[in-house]
Amino acid sequence: MTDYGFIGLGSMGSAMSSHLVNAGLTLYCYDSAGTAKLAPKGAIVKSSIEEVAKLSEVIFLSLPDGKVVLQVAQEIQDTKESKTKIVVDLSTTGPEFAMLISSLLSKSNIVFIDAPVSGGRSGAENASLALMCSGPDKEIKDLRNLFSLIASNVIQVGKDPGQAQAMKLLNNFLSATSMAATSEAVLFGRSHNLDLDTMLSVLNVSSGRNTATEDKFPNRILTETYDAGFAASLMSKDVSLFREQVDKAETPSRIIEVISALWKETNEFAPGGDFTEIYRYLKKTSKSQ
Ligand code: NAD
Repeated sequence: MTDYGFIGLGSMGSAMSSHLVNAGLTLYCYDSAGTAKLAPKGAIVKSSIEEVAKLSEVIFLSLPDGKVVLQVAQEIQDTKESKTKIVVDLSTTGPEFAMLISSLLSKSNIVFIDAPVSGGRSGAENASLALMCSGPDKEIKDLRNLFSLIASNVIQVGKDPGQAQAMKLLNNFLSATSMAATSEAVLFGRSHNLDLDTMLSVLNVSSGRNTATEDKFPNRILTETYDAGFAASLMSKDVSLFREQVDKAETPSRIIEVISALWKETNEFAPGGDFTEIYRYLKKTSKSQ
């Protein structure tokens, strides 16, 4: 019997870990913001990363960024009498952190699987996420059934750490661009007295359809709830990471330049707020409402 660990029980981690527990896995959990209040029912609450590493062969991470994942990976690696053989990182950290973390863990013969997810909190709650992974074939094959407990689409994109992170960043660049462009488009429509609901009805049967028109606008903006469960700070982090990587790769960067600046402003406009706040931010800058 394999024992599992889960570190980081926030918006995504709390939902993803609950599916693992519900499938009958023994799951040792930890979150620095208070494990007892965040862990899913049926999980075993632990009070440190070290305790989780001593008990778990496979540890899942869902943490804010690469710096935090690196710190946590270091603590796993430093644990004496650790049982950990595999670390699966479900966070978005960027390719460079994934490579760094993989090489750190390999010193203790721990296999690192780079496995970011897409689909937001609702995808995590419904286990309908897309999980893109890179790492050695054998471990990914062995873990595939477990991944299917949290994701309806599991796609191995390569064998090297960082490849799945590159995939995740380019995906989030498109998601961020859709949110920003849709906000500008419908604000223009409002200046011509077009109703938001009507515009979405047209867009969703036309060529402008995208994830913002299909999901975020009808479910989070039209409702004025602004609660997609993905922080503006995390989207700003993702597009900044994408921009850094594009600059390094010397691939075209005209759109990401504008988009990364816009998300930085949105994060300043709504500190601690949801990423759908970009619509409220752009609306505030619009001369005609
Ligand atoms: P979150 O901030 O809600 O959760 C992160 C959790 O990690 C928090 O509960 C925090 O207390 C915990 N944590 C921070 N430092 C820790 C440490 N040193 N030890 C233990 N726990 C620690 O973030 P989230 O929205 O759940 O996102 C998690 C990751 O998934 C991020 O990398 C994000 O970019 C990515 N992601 C988020 C979404 C989304 O829609 N929310 C979608 C896809 C991917």
